[in-house]
Amino acid sequence: MGLIFVPQLARGQLKIDDVSGWVQVQPEKNFVRAEIIYQYVNRQQAKRQLELYLDKHLQVTHLQCSKLNQFILSNNKKSAVADLWNTLSIQLQEPLAQNESVTIILSYQGNLPLHQFGDTPLPKNWMEIGANSISLTPFPVEFTPATYNLEIKANPVYQVFSPGQAKKNGTGSTRIQSEVATLGVYFILGSNLQVETLTRGNNAITLISDKASDSLKREVVTMTAWCLEYYNRTFGNRTAKQQVTVALRPVKELDASYAAGENYFVTYNSQEDFFRRKIFHFGNISHEIGHFWWQHADFTSTHNWLNEGFADYVSLMAIRTYWGKDEFEKQIQILKTTLMKLPDTLSLANYDARGKFGNAMSYSKGALLLYQLEARIGENRLIELLAEVAIRKIKTSSAFIKVIDQMLGVEEAKQVEKAINNE
Ligand SMILES: [Zn+2]
Repeated sequence: MGLIFVPQLARGQLKIDDVSGWVQVQPEKNFVRAEIIYQYVNRQQAKRQLELYLDKHLQVTHLQCSKLNQFILSNNKKSAVADLWNTLSIQLQEPLAQNESVTIILSYQGNLPLHQFGDTPLPKNWMEIGANSISLTPFPVEFTPATYNLEIKANPVYQVFSPGQAKKNGTGSTRIQSEVATLGVYFILGSNLQVETLTRGNNAITLISDKASDSLKREVVTMTAWCLEYYNRTFGNRTAKQQVTVALRPVKELDASYAAGENYFVTYNSQEDFFRRKIFHFGNISHEIGHFWWQHADFTSTHNWLNEGFADYVSLMAIRTYWGKDEFEKQIQILKTTLMKLPDTLSLANYDARGKFGNAMSYSKGALLLYQLEARIGENRLIELLAEVAIRKIKTSSAFIKVIDQMLGVEEAKQVEKAINNE
């Protein structure tokens, strides 16, 4: 029988974690074994089949779930994430009602490319588990954010870091926990890493690094502190975020960074490149910190521009304030040039987020829409709107248009709808 509860109440008072259990990691063998207890809440209409994504390197060794009829693990080629994840279909004997929850106990194991970030090799002492490398926990196809409380079992020479809390316990394993619901579970596992926490004004910045120079660390901390302060000051303290963990990934040339959860992001560690292209790296940092406010949409769908376009545009606003108006205009020109290469049949309502033009659409087209909106309504009203989108955790284009309708009126809502549809 399913357990019916109001998720907010359950989280706040009964401390039910959406994802709990343990994960055992053996880096030297690239081996992972886990038992995950997943509280699946059906946010949609009654359904007989639950679907979860599971990293394609993992095999299910045991699955337990009330009302279980059978489960099938397969690669659904039609899925937007088929290159990363298999689909685990859990068929039930009777339908799960809307808002009803069911407990799934899932054991799995497999050999994962632990020392890899996408296609880029990482040093043997460094592992990233999450968005761009591997995802350890089953992920609902609805992309519902989840809280987690997991025990990470690994050789005690490894330190474990997570966007939430990470506490080492007596047996040498580490408990990672987040009461803020995030899209997936992320952590870094490493040996011989340096960790330092610095306070800048009201903000605490924790830096995890491996062989990074002092000058690089200093510059990253300065930029990070400035961005946190800028967003908090600009978008108001209703959504204030005052701590952040930055991991400097020990990879020579990799132009990539990502944000996870609400106080954590990773960037890379090429000292030479960092000082050669400071504005570019400032852009990366301000974009990732922007995600602490704007990252609630499904990143595999057309709504991804509400994550990437927003993070990109607030990053440009930060550039305008930190580096000046000329640099901002230069960046806008770059955006426009990127967009000229796109077929004009593509719109923010119809593009494929994981297709050939997915990133250009999500990042550049999305940011340009906000730039044009600002030109019509002015900076102050744009700031109020962006803050509202963050507070309400807006996930879809239609919900965004509704907010505009409420805040700026029906005419502006129509304009934005036209822009989204490329009309
Ligand atoms: Zn982003």
